[in-house]
Amino acid sequence: MWAMPKAKNEFEFTLQKTKGKMRAGKMTTPHGVVETPIFMPVGTVGSVKSLDSADVQNTQAQIILGNTYHLYLRPGMETMQKMGGLHKFMRWNKPILTDSGGFQVLSLGDAIAHKQEGGVKQENPGVKITEDGVEFRSHLDGSKHTFTPEKSIQIQREIGSDIMMAFDEALPDSKPHKYAADSLAKTHDWATKCYNYWEKHDRRSVYGTYQSLFGIIQGGLFEDLRLESVKHIMSLDFDGIALGGETVGYNLEGTRQVMEWVEPLMPANKPRYAMGMGMNPIDLVEGVKMGFDMFDCVAPARLARNGSLYVGELVIKDGEPVFESQFKNGRMSIGAAQYTTDDSVIQEGCDCETCKAGYTRAYLRHLYKTKELAYYRLATQHNLRFMIRLTEQLRSFILE
Ligand SMILES: [Zn+2]
Repeated sequence: MWAMPKAKNEFEFTLQKTKGKMRAGKMTTPHGVVETPIFMPVGTVGSVKSLDSADVQNTQAQIILGNTYHLYLRPGMETMQKMGGLHKFMRWNKPILTDSGGFQVLSLGDAIAHKQEGGVKQENPGVKITEDGVEFRSHLDGSKHTFTPEKSIQIQREIGSDIMMAFDEALPDSKPHKYAADSLAKTHDWATKCYNYWEKHDRRSVYGTYQSLFGIIQGGLFEDLRLESVKHIMSLDFDGIALGGETVGYNLEGTRQVMEWVEPLMPANKPRYAMGMGMNPIDLVEGVKMGFDMFDCVAPARLARNGSLYVGELVIKDGEPVFESQFKNGRMSIGAAQYTTDDSVIQEGCDCETCKAGYTRAYLRHLYKTKELAYYRLATQHNLRFMIRLTEQLRSFILE
């Protein structure tokens, strides 16, 4: 019987240069090359909120995220397959990374059950974690579903992403060591199952394209568990390694600590993805300094919609990149009265479509205050371009 050859060369990561722990690399996928370090906008249901795919292209995003849980519920995989996968469906011809759905089945499943049960707090209401996977209820209509490692990979094969993530249990930091250790054992078992299912399907999507699979290091805030996790994830030949958990991207001090533990054990020749990191510009600078290559976060787009716009710049001090801004966390509040007649753009010299077109702070404030739909697009364009440009600047600094 003729078997499709394993085409490992369709995914390639080349480490181009390092400076201290900082790394500049090049990642080749079936839908193009991604230069790292990189910030990846999040397109939850197949759209980066308030932007269309052409707008996203104008932010010079090289790769975007899609959410497995959301796409599985809507439009559903029957529609997805009929439309030829997510790239075709949303007219996005560049790389796409999908998460495993693990995070959402736990967090959103929780949220709906809370709502349905009158807000009475229960331990994982509506969500049941078993050895095999997670049973959960849709946050849309309460219908029951089960995700297993194999099911998660199968859905990602039907979405047709370039990079898939292994199914894991997103562990809250509050859990004690015993719970965390049991959870980690499950996550590792699931990682192996994802790996085997990926190999079984020749590492290909249902459309025949090569798909990478990244393993995820968990272990909460416990050093022994994090180290054990790096070793297990590295024992499988994943195309890339991700760092997950509640702390990563949420609490910068904690993230730095976890990165300090695991980074020395991580292989140099694989891309390193800090999941959910990139709320503030400084997070990207710190993540790169800690030796990570890929970052994503819903916050830049959400903050934009809520009136927080990034302002500031990357400067080099004593040979180190530092983010400087006159604003706390590098964010100005466009709704503030002081901008009522401010005729400057959000940031002088910014090459986003909004600043390039000359839209003033005064006009953006007006659109924000009147809740005009155009505001959401103009603000989102700026914040996403800002974060992407920041990773480009870090890359230039490493390469220079
Ligand atoms: Zn701008």
